[in-house]
Amino acid sequence: MRGWPLANDRVKLVKQANDIVDVVGGYLALRQTGKTFKGLCPFHNDTRPSFDVDPARQRYRCWSCGKFGDVISFVQEFDHVDFREALSLLARRAGITLDDTGPDPRAESRGQLLDVMRWATALFQECLLEDPLAEPARKYLGERGLLGEVVRTWGLGYAPGSWEWLVNAARDNNVSFDLLEKVGLIARRDKGDGWYDRFRDRVLFPIRDVRGQTVGFGGRLLPSSASKGPKYYNSCDTPLFSKSEQLYGLDQARQVAEKVGYLTIVEGYTDVLMAHQLGVRQVVATMGTALNERHVKQLRRFVPRVVLVFDADAGGDTGVDRALELFASLDMELAIASLPAGLDPCDLLVQSGPGPFVRALESAVDALEHKLLQMLAREDAETVEGRFRIAHAVLEVIAQTTPLPGQAGAVKMELMMTRIARRLALKEETLWARLDELRRARRPADGAGPHRGGQGATQPAEKARAAPEERELLEVLLADPDLVGEVFACIALEEIEHPGLRRLLQGLYDLHQSGEPPTLDRLREDMQDNGPLVNKAFELQDRGLARADRQVWLSGLLEHFRQRREKSVTRKLKERLHAVDDHATALELLRNLQSRSVEAGSGASSQGNGPASGPTRLAGA
Ligand SMILES: [Zn+2]
Repeated sequence: MRGWPLANDRVKLVKQANDIVDVVGGYLALRQTGKTFKGLCPFHNDTRPSFDVDPARQRYRCWSCGKFGDVISFVQEFDHVDFREALSLLARRAGITLDDTGPDPRAESRGQLLDVMRWATALFQECLLEDPLAEPARKYLGERGLLGEVVRTWGLGYAPGSWEWLVNAARDNNVSFDLLEKVGLIARRDKGDGWYDRFRDRVLFPIRDVRGQTVGFGGRLLPSSASKGPKYYNSCDTPLFSKSEQLYGLDQARQVAEKVGYLTIVEGYTDVLMAHQLGVRQVVATMGTALNERHVKQLRRFVPRVVLVFDADAGGDTGVDRALELFASLDMELAIASLPAGLDPCDLLVQSGPGPFVRALESAVDALEHKLLQMLAREDAETVEGRFRIAHAVLEVIAQTTPLPGQAGAVKMELMMTRIARRLALKEETLWARLDELRRARRPADGAGPHRGGQGATQPAEKARAAPEERELLEVLLADPDLVGEVFACIALEEIEHPGLRRLLQGLYDLHQSGEPPTLDRLREDMQDNGPLVNKAFELQDRGLARADRQVWLSGLLEHFRQRREKSVTRKLKERLHAVDDHATALELLRNLQSRSVEAGSGASSQGNGPASGPTRLAGA
């Protein structure tokens, strides 16, 4: 189990070198409010900033979903990696070498994949900038009007057309073929041995995550290329890259976007590059997929508003309907900007400079308005039938969506319906009735419906209410590992009834017995299969740390446990007393009981602390 015991100070070192505000701020927008920083929680569908990052205590907490922890658990949760991997990612970030013996090979994997991507990015870039082979690629980018500075900032590269350019470079540099395969850069040959490059004769656009690390590539086949294949080819989905989630340029766009309050979404890499080159920096692109819910959730962390750019003819009905669906079902302002027919953003920017493009962004209308305008242009709004057809088309899209939960959702729906009614001079009640009809007609198709079921009831035993003294015991011990020995000597594991707390205590006992420091940092390594429990442990520790008199507090608790034991013995004796029918045994039990109650009374009074009162915090906790 513990192949790689981490010295506890190693964990401490990594934590000290990674300020929680810096690290979390790398993943989402944070605003300082007083002593803490606030942002939208990345772990639930947050609609108001519920996520607090506290630099003084180096903790985060979501007031809505209850996520709680330190810088390491944040990276664990966010990047879906285990404790060691999170630790190693943070160590890299801070330039610390974790030279422990025998590292778990899996633990390094994400870092290794990122390393291999960094190596390949540099190699492709060097090729584009220097290699005679890349002449046609340089010419192509020049023709598109892209400047050297942008090409460099965005790390563009070129993959030559031979099938083994990268494979050979990897061999020369001792780079692992397995890792290159994992990140989608090379593949095994079908016949015979060996490997081949997946990107050939293409200009490469490194796709970076929000922190600027290359996680994939988009490749544009050179127009002059003799090789066949699609015009655009993206990295396949890998452990680093998911094309339905990734946005091109978010690392470069996020800061300006936070300032202007919105992000613009276009379709192509060159659209993004040209916009940035001309100073319109709040622009990103999807990876050849339509904007979806996962994109929106990501974007929501940075801006409250997204402007989708459609060119007038290509936007099409599906694009508009899909945008309206997202608008209706998510807590996001979603607007649509139309460009003059036949022009993509890059053409427009090259032809006319940033002016018309920015004006189009500024006059964007929200998705509902866009749909209404589209339908009004098609139908005769003079007649009631025409207006009903428009209403029907709009409501049909809305009926597809699962409404936003809660008050915010209800308000958004009201506002939409009022607007449709007003624009079409129809009665609101009629529209609501029509919407209900459409929704009912749709329901049988999707079975049980999307509403919250019993899924949330995970691990009911660990969610059970804990006795206050059990909870407080863990609060003390997690805050003060030095006290574990004392508790180990007088409280048996079986005395803890709450299963989650018992598991935590068991972990501390195990560490204590094996001579390791019984700290939460050490404990969490063995508990990474149980995120909620680690989360809980952090909360308990936090409450423990809030009290200075922990030794005194613990004495009170131990006394309380002693009484609890006593009561349970007494109860058992009484039960037996009721059950026995022979006189002698009953008498014996009775004597036993009486002597116990005398002892209990004197024991408590010598403590100067009434037997029933117990530890001070218990009553109110
Ligand atoms: Zn949350």
